[in-house]
Amino acid sequence: MAERPLSKEILCYTFQFAPVFGSIWITLMAVAVCAGAQTKPTIHLEAEKGQLVDTSVAVSFPGYSGSGYVTEFTKDDSKVVLTFDAPGGLYTLRIRFRTPSGAKGYDLKVDGEGSSGMFDQSQAWAVHTAGKVELKPGSNTLEIDKGWGWFDVDSVDLIPAAPDPAPKRLSPTLIDPKATPAARKLMAYLVSGYGSRTLSGQYGWDDAQYIKQNTGKYPAILGGDFMDYSPSRIAFGANPKDGTEQMVQKGLQGWIVTMSWHWNAPKDLINKISKDQNGNTVDNSWYKGFYTSATTFDVQYALSHPDSEDRKLLLRDIDAIGFQLKKFDDAGVPVLWRPLHEASGGWFWWGAKGPEPFKALWRLLYDRLTNYHHLHNLIWVYTDGDPKWYPGDRYVDVVGIDVYPSDPNDPLSGNWEDEMRRFDGKKLVAVTEFGGVPDVAKMQAFGAHWAYWVSWIGDLGPKKMTKAELAETYRLGQVATHDKLPAAFFKSKRQ
Ligand code: CA
Repeated sequence: MAERPLSKEILCYTFQFAPVFGSIWITLMAVAVCAGAQTKPTIHLEAEKGQLVDTSVAVSFPGYSGSGYVTEFTKDDSKVVLTFDAPGGLYTLRIRFRTPSGAKGYDLKVDGEGSSGMFDQSQAWAVHTAGKVELKPGSNTLEIDKGWGWFDVDSVDLIPAAPDPAPKRLSPTLIDPKATPAARKLMAYLVSGYGSRTLSGQYGWDDAQYIKQNTGKYPAILGGDFMDYSPSRIAFGANPKDGTEQMVQKGLQGWIVTMSWHWNAPKDLINKISKDQNGNTVDNSWYKGFYTSATTFDVQYALSHPDSEDRKLLLRDIDAIGFQLKKFDDAGVPVLWRPLHEASGGWFWWGAKGPEPFKALWRLLYDRLTNYHHLHNLIWVYTDGDPKWYPGDRYVDVVGIDVYPSDPNDPLSGNWEDEMRRFDGKKLVAVTEFGGVPDVAKMQAFGAHWAYWVSWIGDLGPKKMTKAELAETYRLGQVATHDKLPAAFFKSKRQ
C-alpha cells in the first residue's frame, strides 16, 4: 500500500502537544488547522434515501428518523448504498439499527474497502458504533450489506475523528504468581512493544514456510493445536504423532509458541453421518467431536455433579493435555495458551450451556494445570468478545478476538475500540485467529494497535490476497517477524 499522507486529524492530534514546546508559530498553525478539522460537520444520512438492492423501506416500527427505515436484509445481495460528499479523513461511523430477532453480523463497504461487525440484540432502535472509516475528499459510497441479515437500518452518522491513541502502558505481571522466568520474559517483551509493534503469527508450519518463501520472513509466532491429543479421539485411532515435540523444537529455535485445543468432548460423541430435512449431508463423526452438534456431552451436568463420571473425564482430558504442556515447560519454552476459544458462539460444546458453566470450566482448567500440574510456563489467552463470558481478570493474561472479515484489509477498528473500552490499561489485546494476513499499516493509521495476530491455516492463498500484499505486511517496520525477536530470550530454564 502507498504511504499515507499525514491527514489533518493526525496533525491536530500531534499539535495538541505543540504549545508545550513553546513555538508560537506552530501553535498558531495548529489552531488554524485544527479549527478547520473541528468545524468539519458530522454527516447524517437516512438509510431510506439510499439505493436499495433487494431491500425495502418500511414505516411500521415507530421511532425512526426521516421518512422510514430499510428492512428485509434477507437475500444474498440485500444491501443499501449511500452516496454522499465529504471533506475526507477519518470518521467514526455510527449506525442506528434494530435487531428484532437477536444479535446479527453485518458487512460494510466504504469506497470499496470492507469491514464487518455485529449489531447487539435490540428490539428498540439503538446506536451501534462501528469504529473508524476513512473517507476521501469528494464523493464517497457507504454500503451496508446483508451479513447475517434480519436487521433494520434507520440512519448513519459519520463523526470527524482522530486516530485512536496508543493503549495505556501495561504491567507485564502474569496472573500466575509462580510464572517461570521464560514466561515473564515473553510477557515483558509483548508489553514493551504494545502500541507500536504488532507481532506476526501463523498456525501451521506449512503456511509459515509459504510466508518465508514469499516474503523472506518467518512469522514471530507459530501456532499449534492439541486436538488429536484429546483422549476421545485417540480412542478412535487419531494419531498426534510428534506434534508436541515439533512445537517444542520450534520454541527452542526462537519462535514464540501459541497452542489451542480443539477439545474433543470426553464422551457422548454422536459419530454419525446423516441427512438433514433438505437432503444435505450432516457430518457428526467422532472427529467433529469438539462441535456442539457432534456430541451430547453436557458440561453443565459434569460441573454440577462433582462425583460424576463426566467430571472425572473432564479432568482425565485436562491431565492428558497437561502432560503435553509439561514437555514445553521441561524445555523452558513458554506457551501462549489459548484453550476454550469462541465459547459464546455456542458452536463448541464448552460454550453450549451458557456463560456460567463455561467460566467454571475455565477456572477448573486454570486450577488443574497451575496448582495440580504445577505448569507455570503458560500465558493464559482468552478468546471471546462477549463480556458475559469473561472468566475474570485473575484468570486471563491476554484477551483475543477471532475474526474472519469479508475483506482482509479490514483494520478491525470497531473491534479494537470495543476491546479498549473494556481492557485498556488492564490486559493485552490481540487478534488470536485471523482469516488472511491483516493490513497492519492501515490498522496503525486508524490507531488499532493489536499486540499480535495469528493467521489461521490455509487462509493465505490468492483468494484472500496477492503475494505482494502478503510481503508488504511482512516487511513493515512495525511488524515483528521471527528474525526481529530477541535471540533465545525465552529459552531460559525454570529456576
Ligand atoms: Ca430513517
